[in-house]
Amino acid sequence: MRFVFLGPPGVGKGTYASRVAPILGIAHISTGDIFREEIKKETELGKKVKSYLESGQLVPDEIVIEVLKQRIEEDDCKKGFILDGFPRTIKQAEELDKITKIDAVINIVLDEDLLVKKISARRICRNCGKIYNIADIRKGEIHLPPIAPKKEGICDDCGGELYQRDDDKEEVVRERLNVYYEQTAPLIDYYKNKGLIREITVTGGPDKMVPVILKIMKEYE
Ligand code: AMP
Repeated sequence: MRFVFLGPPGVGKGTYASRVAPILGIAHISTGDIFREEIKKETELGKKVKSYLESGQLVPDEIVIEVLKQRIEEDDCKKGFILDGFPRTIKQAEELDKITKIDAVINIVLDEDLLVKKISARRICRNCGKIYNIADIRKGEIHLPPIAPKKEGICDDCGGELYQRDDDKEEVVRERLNVYYEQTAPLIDYYKNKGLIREITVTGGPDKMVPVILKIMKEYE
């Protein structure tokens, strides 16, 4: 089972992938998480990519492709994987085609106004990476209830401190959305032409959406 989760920043790719991957017994690979971890550990790779993450620009294709190639060789990927945040350019998608077959691309769609609100309310555990959302967001039929920790600022799972990603702050978010529309959105047509796109429109929180996504993914089991 090999999936790509496609969609703009903040749409919920990471939250959904982290919930469905353990149920299906497949790996959740987030290139953004890999880079944040390398930056935290101050490795050579971390130093190379830091400025791109800070400004909301894409890390150069050669670097990301190399990281991804190594990651999918690891043992936990044998039964399959979800790629969250990769590919982000046509070049990356073409390279991915050379190294592996993909069963389906889950394209996750959400109204842009709500995306910006959702990203500014995102909080992450500094220790385990669990994602929270502190706002109660509504528009028409759509309701995204908060995913709040029991104790403010503290992760329910590990007691770690919750923080806001620097690139989730307003100035960088706009740039990340521009980068998405210019460089990543063309992948929707790329994968449509291959007959791989399955579209999901977000209308509620993970409790509502995860079963919908799982049902589609199980078709490929
Ligand atoms: P994310 O956590 O997916 O929002 O990614 C955070 C940042 O990591 C992005 O704004 C990019 O700077 C970098 N990044 C993550 N994945 C990729 C990718 N596939 N290609 C280029 N840059 C990436």
